[in-house]
Amino acid sequence: MSVDASISPGELSEMLKQAKKVVALTGAGLSTSAGIPDFRGPKGLYVSRRYDPQKVFEISWFRRDPSYFYEFAWDFATMASEITPTFSHEFLCTLSGKGILCGIVTQNIDLLHQEAGSERVIELHGSFGSATCLKCGQRFFNLTYRWWLDLMGKSPDKPVARCGCKGVLKPDIVFFGEAVYRYDEAEELIRECDLLLVLGSSLNVTPASLLPYVTNAPTIIINRGSIGLGTASHRHLVNADLDDYLKEVAHSMEIAR
Ligand SMILES: [Zn+2]
Repeated sequence: MSVDASISPGELSEMLKQAKKVVALTGAGLSTSAGIPDFRGPKGLYVSRRYDPQKVFEISWFRRDPSYFYEFAWDFATMASEITPTFSHEFLCTLSGKGILCGIVTQNIDLLHQEAGSERVIELHGSFGSATCLKCGQRFFNLTYRWWLDLMGKSPDKPVARCGCKGVLKPDIVFFGEAVYRYDEAEELIRECDLLLVLGSSLNVTPASLLPYVTNAPTIIINRGSIGLGTASHRHLVNADLDDYLKEVAHSMEIAR
């Protein structure tokens, strides 16, 4: 997608003021400045650390031996428990509070939108916020990284989180080959929006990458690098640092942090 159809922070600020049903579709780039690595980026967690993504998120492997996933989960939860939301996460929450933003669809599993205070968040790839026991089927909700770390720490040898019945807990994260969560709801939300913000996603992962196609509303994509989305007159690509750009938008809208 070309960059010549760009849009200034002042222009986006005006669009946001006039819109009534803004939806944000967010990806890894939103959280990288908070310190959450982009799993698929060139310096992603799998590259910088020792994990093989196919093995970490492979459901058949998990059922056979969850300890490999839980080694990753231990490191991820340790890292994520110390991280705070970025300006962009907080800006989206502010837009919700003003009745401008009606929902967030995210590919991220890091819970930072909720931590920033956003309420309507559709987590396509799930998160560590809830879990299911693979043995007795009990569900667990409103989970925090601290809860996971405490539970994993109770495991006698390797850090595997277990239910009271001793069954292995699986966080409600979408593993390879599993269907994403709440896709129909995400599609409906985006179909009804009057302005779509695509933030920090290169739109290279299906089915999230298909979502911008369900609307003809103005679509502003803010991301570093190339985008897997076809050119159209209603789509505007901004190749910029997300936090810096949105700070300028917030400034134009006279929204204090
Ligand atoms: Zn159980």
